[in-house]
Parts: sequence; C-alpha cells; structure tokens
Amino acid sequence: MNVDWIVHNAREVVTLAGPARPRSGSEQGELGLIEDGAIAVKGDRIVAIGPSGEILRDHVTAPEHCLDAEGGVVLPGFVDPHTHLVFAGTREREFAMRCAGQSYLEIAAAGGGIRSSVRAFRSASDDDILRQSRRRLDRMLAFGTTTAEVKSGYGLDSEQELRALRLIEQLDREHPVDLVSTFLGAHEFPDEYREDRAAYVELVAEKMLPRVAAETQARFCDVFCEQGVFDRDETETILRAAQRLGLGLKVHADEFAPIGGAELAGELRAISADHLLVTTDAGRRALRDGGVIAVLLPGTCFSLGKHAYANARKMIEEGIPVALGTDCNPGSSMVDSMPLVLALACLEMGLSPAEVVTGATVNAAFATGVGADRGRLEPGLRADFQVLAAPSYISLVYHLGGSHVRWVWKDGRRVLSAGDAA
Ligand SMILES: [Zn+2]
Repeated sequence: MNVDWIVHNAREVVTLAGPARPRSGSEQGELGLIEDGAIAVKGDRIVAIGPSGEILRDHVTAPEHCLDAEGGVVLPGFVDPHTHLVFAGTREREFAMRCAGQSYLEIAAAGGGIRSSVRAFRSASDDDILRQSRRRLDRMLAFGTTTAEVKSGYGLDSEQELRALRLIEQLDREHPVDLVSTFLGAHEFPDEYREDRAAYVELVAEKMLPRVAAETQARFCDVFCEQGVFDRDETETILRAAQRLGLGLKVHADEFAPIGGAELAGELRAISADHLLVTTDAGRRALRDGGVIAVLLPGTCFSLGKHAYANARKMIEEGIPVALGTDCNPGSSMVDSMPLVLALACLEMGLSPAEVVTGATVNAAFATGVGADRGRLEPGLRADFQVLAAPSYISLVYHLGGSHVRWVWKDGRRVLSAGDAA
C-alpha cells in the first residue's frame, strides 16, 4: 500500500494497544510494546503498526518519507490533561518568596496568587496573551505533547472568561498542538465579589455558564473546590448547572484540605478529579464507584516545595485510573514538560515507568475527552506520535533535564524535527 510516511527500526514502539477505555489496576502497567517496530501513516491516520520487516514489505512511500528511527522509541504524543497555559505575565517574585519560606496560601492572602494573575490577564491585550501562550505551546510540543486541555479562570467576569475561551480556540486553530477548553470561572472569587460569595456563585451558574455553552467550544466545566475558595455546596451548584447544559465535569479536589471534592466528583460522575493530595478512603471509594479518572499533578507539589504527593499507588491498587498532567500555570507549577512530571511520578509517587507512560497517554486522553482516537497507536487512530532519540521509553524518566524528542507527528503531519527543539 502507498502511504505518506513510514518510520521504521524503532527499538521500541509503545502502542498502548487494547481496550478503548482508561486503564486501571494492573492494566495501567501494560504498554503493548513492539520490538524493532515500525509505523505507517496515510493522511491523518495510522494505517499500520508492527515489526519493521513486515511494514517495509507491505508499504511503500517516497524515500525521503521513509525514516530510520535508528533504534529509538516511537510512542503516542502526550496528552496533557490539566493546564492553565493561557495567562498573562509570570510570578517569579512569588517563587523567591516561597524559597524564603512563605506558603502558597500566605502569598495568596497577601494579594499574590491567582488574583494577581487575574489583574494581569484583564489588563493584557489579546495579542500579548496569544504571543506568550504560543511560546509555551511550542515548548510543550518540544517535549512531546500533541494535545492539551486548557482552562479559563484568570478572567473571573463574563466578558473576560469568554475572552479566555475564545483565545484558547484561536490558539487551537493556529498551533499544531490540539487544545480542548474547560471553563473555570470558579477558579477564585474575584476582588469585587469577596464580600458576596453567593452572588458570584450565582453569576457563574446562571449567567456565565449559559453563555459558555452557547457561544464557545468549551467541553468541560471545572471548579477549584478548596478550603477558602469554593466549598462543597458552591461547587455542586456550579457543576450541576454545567451538567444541565451538557458540559462534562472536572473538579480541582483535595489539594490542601479534604472538604468533599472527591466525593462530589464521584457522585456527579465527573470525567476527572484533579490533584487529590489529601483524599480520604471515602473519597477514593467515590472516585472508583463513579468511574472518575484521577488526574495527578506532581509538578505542583514539587514546585510548591511540598514533600507530600497524592497516593497514586493506592489509587491504582483500588482500580482508579491515574492520569498525569503538568498543571502548567504561573503560580504553583510553571512546568511545561510532561517527561519531568513523569519522572516525579516515578521518583516521588512510586509509580513504574510503564504506569506513568499510560498516565500521560491513554488515561490522559480519556481525561480530556479525546480517548476514542488518541493516546494509543493502532491502525485507524489519529497519527499523533513522537520519536525519541533514546534506547527505551524508560529514558524519559531516567535521563532527566532535556527533551529526547527527535520528531513529532500531529494529525499525520511532521510538525517538529530535532533541529527545531527548544
Ligand atoms: Zn489547576
């Protein structure tokens, strides 16, 4: 068969082949490896995957499109299931304050934190936000990410939140990395509503959400359910309103205090509950029973200098699928590298290299609502994959500090070659 691309002579092809659903328990560690493998691409789809000899025998392409991976690794492009990457300005000074011993919540109480990014976002131009965000997306792509979830949440009023979602859509059109947008109007209480929380919850649920559903491509609604931010009842009011409008649900749950976010996510059958550092036994039961994916964000714990991580081992043992994301944001996780997140998940959370790869591909794809055709390499699925100049997928978490990416394909187009890497 004539095809558009063949990549052959990969020491490992990580296929994640198997059922089209999130992987949990022992399945989280099954990668479907093919040794000395190859992949063939036509249009935006994978048409064949298997041993190099077989693929080269059955498929032909132009010589300059038949590429030797030279013993490297082929694996799906990463799906980053939790980012806040469309923001304005960075917060280096807060990082220095944290190094001097101040906590994230102390800095937020003193006027820093999310509210400082809200002021910056509201005063920045569209062009400025797009320019900054494009550079972050370039870096993500250079680390192998081909799809990312992106949340609004630095606008916190109707016009600014809709602007954030429109900017995400514009970036999605312009950039090879695919973006899936989430409405996070309940990221924090804006300054003008701090004395009247009920009025802000009502504004989000009754005014913003209907416009988000009608005027934007947002797939999900998320709430920062946390002590001092949105309590359980406020979170439930907003998420139920979103559910009635047909949006999928996500919850920032149990990051600092277990106030019932995981239980609520389970009850509402949210697609994911994210962070989950202090989730209780009852919270984990609710996640499992509700079919919720645990999106864990170890880059945030690391960036905040915390030495406590989510109990991923227990979640996997109890049958909860675990996905991993960067939480890329200017305050608590200025991280755009999925391999760094995967390394932290191995070294600090006790996951195996195979479990973290599943967490960054198939499970992350389902947590982002795109699991039907991404996060796995099988004929008929979208040709989103990366080729590493490394001898094993374990190099991702073992050989730290830079990117091993040699080439990246997105929708069957080669969108990055090593020379372009950041
Ligand atoms: Zn977040």
